[in-house]
Amino acid sequence: MNNIFESLESEVRSYCRTWPAVFDVAKGSYLYAEDGTAYLDFFAGAGALNYGHNNPVLKRKLLEYLERDGVTHGLDQATKAKREFLETLDEKLLKPRGLDYKVQFPGPTGTNSVESALKLVRKITGRESIISFTNAFHGMTLGSLSVTGNSMKRGGAGIPLVHATPMPYDDYFDGQVPDFLYFERMLEDSGSGLNEPAAVIVETLQGEGGINSSRPEWLRGLYELCQKHGILMIVDDVQMGCGRTGPFFSFEEAGIQPDIVCLSKSIGGYGMPLALTLIKSEHDVWDPGEHNGTFRGNNPAFVTATEALKEYWSDDRLEKSTIAKGERVGEVLDELVAKYDGALAKGRGLARGLGFEDPEIAGKVSKAAFDRKLILETSGPDSEVIKIMPPLTVSDEELEQGLQIIRESVHSVLA
Ligand code: PMP
Repeated sequence: MNNIFESLESEVRSYCRTWPAVFDVAKGSYLYAEDGTAYLDFFAGAGALNYGHNNPVLKRKLLEYLERDGVTHGLDQATKAKREFLETLDEKLLKPRGLDYKVQFPGPTGTNSVESALKLVRKITGRESIISFTNAFHGMTLGSLSVTGNSMKRGGAGIPLVHATPMPYDDYFDGQVPDFLYFERMLEDSGSGLNEPAAVIVETLQGEGGINSSRPEWLRGLYELCQKHGILMIVDDVQMGCGRTGPFFSFEEAGIQPDIVCLSKSIGGYGMPLALTLIKSEHDVWDPGEHNGTFRGNNPAFVTATEALKEYWSDDRLEKSTIAKGERVGEVLDELVAKYDGALAKGRGLARGLGFEDPEIAGKVSKAAFDRKLILETSGPDSEVIKIMPPLTVSDEELEQGLQIIRESVHSVLA
């Protein structure tokens, strides 16, 4: 690999160590190194590339927009691209699902959406503390890190800025599911320090936390508990939204309407930064200018986002194919679990994982896969899970090819 990365790039970088190639071109489910080697990408920008690299439909719209000198940076002005995005979001996503949200553009990335949500729930309720979950991940800024359940990710950031109390996530006790009794007692006990939280923040499936999937009934139970105690519910759908688990919103299966939803990653559709905070209308208590920023909204990303909604969310084809492809991944993972002691199949939709008791194994499998030209990230508190997240547009052939490499890679490490 080119030495410039060693000599000039900060030590904070990480992926170029894991995947020592210099990538140049990207198309569909593939990344191509500058020497032309093709790598199947089952990482997909950690959920930022649900429609694949340089998706041709989105690319056409983007090129047309740039060709006619469409606004690129409009700060916060009203633009045609923004209006079309908002109209399409309403028509394709919110109305058909009976969802009533106002849309905030909180800043360029997922963590900006989480920050705005944390600020807003404090403003709405006048309370400060937030309930978060074990193994949660919500981003790298101080508020988001305060509700992130992984001390390593906090780096040297020190004391959390937001008063956050972690509670056990569904499935925390090795398959024994925590009920809400503990939670409820803590809420009712004035000495617990947990009385009167402003909100809970939850992922329906923890991507960075190790592909831990919560059950819809757990999520619904949490929602009902929140309603009973007047606690707001924030669903962080930054990674699992935009169809990663099947439906556009990962909480749809639970039949709930969270007070606030954080979206980013694949909402722009083309791998360009765009973040949204969806706020139930009655909770939109922002005053003008209270939460601003130079890169709120992104006009070229509005163009691709609009097209992605039209192309993929006008019917349920993508949702169905994601569920079917996810089940196929699940079958192969079950096969591996039956063969190798201690392996654990995780996830739902096309957010799947294979966990190992020894974290070193996951790292070795990821490396073995890279050697076989498949990109697989690891996740979990000790990076003990290989994370399988191809673009949702992956073809059946590409999926089979990737699954075969996963089989071979696991075999090469464990056999
Ligand atoms: N929330 C979740 C659930 C995430 O997975 C991530 C990113 N991995 C974030 C928030 C932060 O998003 P970003 O990196 O775009 O700031």
